[in-house]
Amino acid sequence: MPLVIALTGGIGSGKSTVADILAELGADVIDTDAIAHRLTAPGEAGAVEIGRQFGSEFLRADGALDRERMREHVFSDTTARKKLEAILHPMIRTAVDAAMEAACGSYTVLVVPLLVETGAYQGLVKRTLVVDCSETAQMERVRERNRLPEETIRNIMASQANRAARLARADDVIVNDGDLATLRNRTLEIHRHYLRLAEKA
Ligand code: ATP
Repeated sequence: MPLVIALTGGIGSGKSTVADILAELGADVIDTDAIAHRLTAPGEAGAVEIGRQFGSEFLRADGALDRERMREHVFSDTTARKKLEAILHPMIRTAVDAAMEAACGSYTVLVVPLLVETGAYQGLVKRTLVVDCSETAQMERVRERNRLPEETIRNIMASQANRAARLARADDVIVNDGDLATLRNRTLEIHRHYLRLAEKA
């Protein structure tokens, strides 16, 4: 069985940056967030089903999911969140399985932002790689990138697992508290580690 690594971390921790570097280095990267985006694009199965079950007011004029509206709707409504997950999770899982089948590199990285929170993909992954950074760094990066108010970012962070809970699940950790060059070096180290593990597997 090929080596599959789950990559996770809190909002703005640097998951996508690490995933991009690993992809450049030759890993097969499957990003569950990117799959969810694809499935909720105009006319795609996820968007169509969400429109059917939640109403067309949750779709934008072009037929894509209105992410902002849905985020607000499910934030405090567990039933609605579960209903949304019941639509999207099986579709995402099917797409992940197909991408796994197609993978041909030495190892596969599965990016799952809410891995610890959902307990998903347990049987599929061999190791968990956590990108960890201080909450201050998370806050600054997300504020800069998304131009979101501090309170919104705090609410999202509070809804996610805390650092200790995530680190407790980690087999490997990339600490992303330095600059991008440091992150790149550390990611290269991890890549070499995975190549060695893949050879032994
Ligand atoms: P999200 O959960 O929101 O998708 P993420 O964990 O995938 O976030 P990235 O998108 O990789 O995080 O990084 C968040 C932002 O911070 C990006 O704009 C990225 O370029 C920047 N960033 C990440 N690591 C560093 C770093 N070490 N130094 C400077 N900027 C960084």
